[in-house]
Amino acid sequence: MEGTVVKLDRGFPLVRCSDGTSVRCEHATALVKGERVRAVIGDRVLVSVPDGHDKGIIEGILPRRSSFVRKDPADRTAHQVLAANFDLVIIAEPVVQLNRRRLERELVLAHETGVRVAVVLTKADLAGMGDAEATRHEVADLAGKSVDVLLASIGDADSIERVRELLAEGEVAILIGKSGVGKSSLVNMLAGGEVQDVGEVRARDGKGRHTTVDRVMVDIPGGGRVVDMPGVRGLGLWDADAGLGAAFADVEELAASCRFRDCKHADEPGCAVQAAVQSGELAQARLDSYRSFAAELQEVRERRDEARHMRGEKASDRRRRRGR
Ligand code: GDP
Ligand code: ZN
Repeated sequence: MEGTVVKLDRGFPLVRCSDGTSVRCEHATALVKGERVRAVIGDRVLVSVPDGHDKGIIEGILPRRSSFVRKDPADRTAHQVLAANFDLVIIAEPVVQLNRRRLERELVLAHETGVRVAVVLTKADLAGMGDAEATRHEVADLAGKSVDVLLASIGDADSIERVRELLAEGEVAILIGKSGVGKSSLVNMLAGGEVQDVGEVRARDGKGRHTTVDRVMVDIPGGGRVVDMPGVRGLGLWDADAGLGAAFADVEELAASCRFRDCKHADEPGCAVQAAVQSGELAQARLDSYRSFAAELQEVRERRDEARHMRGEKASDRRRRRGR
C-alpha cells in the first residue's frame, strides 16, 4: 500500500495510507542496511502491515519530486534531507529585526529545491504600518520577482488568508525559519485551530521552551497542507549552485559580462560585478554575501571530494590486502 509520511517525532514515522488509515511504521531492514536511508516528512512510501502487527513496515521510498537538503551539522562530508515532495517553501522571518544574511541563506536553500518560494514576514503588528510595508518592499527587492513576499500577523485574519492563498488545493508547503519567529502560531492560524504547541504554551510546562524536533504535516481547511519544521538550527549549504544562482540572479546576471568565466569578482580585470559595485548599481554587502556563499559551497565541495578520495583509497587498500 502507498502512503505519505505525515509525522516524524522521536517515535516511529506516522504514515497516512491511501486507504485513509494512519499507521506507525518501522523501516524494513533491507532498506536501511548499509546506506542510511530513512523516510522523511512528505515521503511517499510503500507500506506493508503484516498480519497481527500493530506497526507497519516501510518497504520502499518512492522517488522524491522535491527535497530540502542541508549539510549534516554533525558530519561535514554528509548531507541531510529534511523534507520531501512539497510544492512551495515558505520562509518565515520577523518583520522587526529581520536578519538579512539568514534570509539570503534561506533563499539559497529554498531555491535549490526547485519549487516555488515565498517569504512571510511575521509579527507585522510589532512594526508600524509604514515600517512593515517598507521592509516588505526591501525584501521583495532582495528576493527578486519570482518570490511572493507577504506580511502576516496572527491577529490579522486577512493577512493569514493571503498566506493560505499561496497554496492550491492538494499542494504542500514547508515552513522554515528560526525558532521563535512565529511558525507554529502561523500554522495554527492556517489550520484554524490549535494543532501545534506555541511558545507561550510550552513555556508554561515549567521546563521552559523545549526544543521539539517534531515535524508534522497539517491540513489547511479548503486548501493544501503545511509542514512546520522546528529544530532546524544550522542551515549549512550542501549542493546549492543552482540555488545560489537563483537567489542571487542579480549578481549572476552581471557576472555573465565578466571578462573571465571563472571570475571571482574580487580584483580581476574586466569584472562587471565590481564595476556595478563601483557605480552603485549593486550593493557591496550583496556581493559580500554572494562571495561568502560561493566560498562555502566551494569548501563543501572540497571536503566531499576529499572524503570520497579517502574512501576510494581505503577500498583499494582493502582490495590489495585481499590480494585482488
Ligand atoms: P516558532 O518557534 O517559530 O514556532 O514560534 P511560535 O509560533 O512558537 O511563536 C513565538 C512567539 O511569538 C510566541 O510568543 C507567539 O505568541 C509570538 N507570535 C507569533 N506570531 C505573532 C504575531 O503575529 N505577532 C506577535 N506580536 N507575536 C507573535
Ligand atoms: Zn567578475
